[in-house]
Amino acid sequence: MKRFIYISVMVVVTMMTGSLFAQNEEDINNLLPQINADSLLRTVNDLENFGSRFALRTGGNREVAEYLVQRLTNYGVNAVIDSFYNESTNWLAGDYAQWFYNVKGILSSENPKDDSIVIVGAHLDAISYNQNYTLLNQAPGADDNASGVAVMMELARICHENGLRFKRDIHFMAYDGEELGLLGSYDDAWRRDTAGDKVAIMLNNDMVSYQPDEDWKLTLHWYDNALDIVSRAAEICSQYTNIEPVVPTEDENGDSHYSDSYAYYQFGFRAVFAIEHTFSTSYHTYHDVSDSNNYDFLADVARYNMAMLVAYTELDNTVGVEEHAFTAMAHVYPNPVTDKACLQYQLYDNSSVEISVTDLLGRVLLHQNLPLQTAGIHLIDLDLSQLPSGVYLCQIRTDRGSETLKIARK
Ligand SMILES: [Zn+2]
Repeated sequence: MKRFIYISVMVVVTMMTGSLFAQNEEDINNLLPQINADSLLRTVNDLENFGSRFALRTGGNREVAEYLVQRLTNYGVNAVIDSFYNESTNWLAGDYAQWFYNVKGILSSENPKDDSIVIVGAHLDAISYNQNYTLLNQAPGADDNASGVAVMMELARICHENGLRFKRDIHFMAYDGEELGLLGSYDDAWRRDTAGDKVAIMLNNDMVSYQPDEDWKLTLHWYDNALDIVSRAAEICSQYTNIEPVVPTEDENGDSHYSDSYAYYQFGFRAVFAIEHTFSTSYHTYHDVSDSNNYDFLADVARYNMAMLVAYTELDNTVGVEEHAFTAMAHVYPNPVTDKACLQYQLYDNSSVEISVTDLLGRVLLHQNLPLQTAGIHLIDLDLSQLPSGVYLCQIRTDRGSETLKIARK
């Protein structure tokens, strides 16, 4: 019964979307050849070179998140670390209490056609264990899931280098703690649900680079609230890539639960989940390194994603490349803070910087004058251990203006 409904939906939607999409056809055909296998491989290499991206190792994935924020920022994306704290028990890792570090990068639209956003997401963490399920210190996670993150970064690069603007905001998301139970995506989906965000589509890529032979196939796992999306995804994959899309039957679709898109589905958001059809032989081992994977295949997966992005946002050709409107894109984490927090901000030009922390009555409690700083991302430790719990304001003044953040001290 369900499958019957599914097939009929597929036919109707295919007829409906064909014409909508035509207006951006020329742009797509110009953009897709720019997607580059070497560029994808470079991101995978950068990520595997962390040695491990296991979320529970000392310090967690903060450095990984900082790397991704820096990359996205270089592509003109308004990117921050979105941290959260989780205390739980995992069947493999036992009890833990840890900070996790999602990355959230926003490419805003100038003339939005509605208030829905499009999310391109992939998990940044990795895990590896031996046959006895003992965790290992090496977790390169090249296919699982540096490949999905690389797709996201490649899309950001193409958007930047072509000065693309869309008719919907695009949120580039990298999730921490997926391997411990979709922690980062649950946190984000929960926040979005609480905030009443509207999500047109969540594009999830998890393990998308293993393709040892010429029989290129990509499985598109679906959710029963988004059958039109998977049919459009299959159509787009066939049209714009050399990959044959595989839409699983309901019986074969169980893996739809095992990646970040499922967290969004749990909150009623609509998603599609792309994964290699030939499953990696080095899944969750220290052998999951970049050499085992196929970057021409990964480039085609990125092309499918780029075409989906345009299909669900539409390009806005009325807008030129904008000057950055914001001052410093400052962000404090963790927030609330116990003793020490990290203040992150970004300078678009070399600038002097003045940082002050005041209470709500304007009394200055901490003050720092920094001589000329170079353009780029800067991190400053804020020691709030001497302050009583409460709410404080942190002001960052640069040559462009000032920005004020609220900090909660626990
Ligand atoms: Zn994964």
